[in-house]
Amino acid sequence: MAGFEDFIADLPAWLKILGGQLLLIVIPASSAFLFLYRWKGNPLRGRKIQAGFEPAATVRREVRYSILTALVFALNGYCIYLFMVQGWTLIYTDWAEYGWLYGAFSLAAAIVLHDAYFYWAHRLMHLPRLYQAFHRLHHDSLSPTPWAAYAFAPMEAVLQTMFLTILIFILPVHVTVIYLFMVHMILRNVIGHSGFELFPRGTAAHVVFGLLTTNTHHDLHHSCDDKNYGLYFTWWDRLCGTEHPDYHEIFEYVASGRAADERKRAKSDAPLNA
Ligand SMILES: [Zn+2]
Ligand SMILES: [Zn+2]
Repeated sequence: MAGFEDFIADLPAWLKILGGQLLLIVIPASSAFLFLYRWKGNPLRGRKIQAGFEPAATVRREVRYSILTALVFALNGYCIYLFMVQGWTLIYTDWAEYGWLYGAFSLAAAIVLHDAYFYWAHRLMHLPRLYQAFHRLHHDSLSPTPWAAYAFAPMEAVLQTMFLTILIFILPVHVTVIYLFMVHMILRNVIGHSGFELFPRGTAAHVVFGLLTTNTHHDLHHSCDDKNYGLYFTWWDRLCGTEHPDYHEIFEYVASGRAADERKRAKSDAPLNA
């Protein structure tokens, strides 16, 4: 084991960052895809948000662009590493410097700031002048799968990863906090694009949990385009009047499993020669 650890430790920084970034996207996206779309025993199959499934060619395109996004993120990660080595950033490695409590606060602050950055960058990318170059490719997935989470055009991938570059110059962050931030970001994004609702009934209307975006929340953004721009939280959409007017109703409908029941009934009622 020590030999393997030494082997990893001896790898050049750029290779560790590239490998880590690829695994960080490929493992959650492929696991969620296999679990939800390939496993017949998927316990969430009654909670499919949209009736349709994307064709295999669309999923293959999502995989290709997710890999490209991982490369862009890794390139930026390597730049951040070089800035850190030069001592230009506020990244620190000794917990004693700010304490554990600050570490927890900085993680929460990074998530809240990222949500705000994402909301406004997302609104910007929907402006007709920017949409084509930055964001159209992400919307090619009308009924997203876990692989759609990072299916970005290169310009959008750069814009998305720039948040971290800004963060390390304005907020002191421990290296581990950066890893936790990345893991949370990728997991929330993959889950949000899963195409199935994982949150329990009542979440959207709940006074506290309703502040979190559910999977239906972002799925509706893909199917209707100009509503629900938020990433982790619902407050920016509520504040700016961009929440889908039927979001709560659709969420309850999907989370109750009624949508799947009705689709099944419609299928069995359909005339055989239709
Ligand atoms: Zn969008
Ligand atoms: Zn999306």
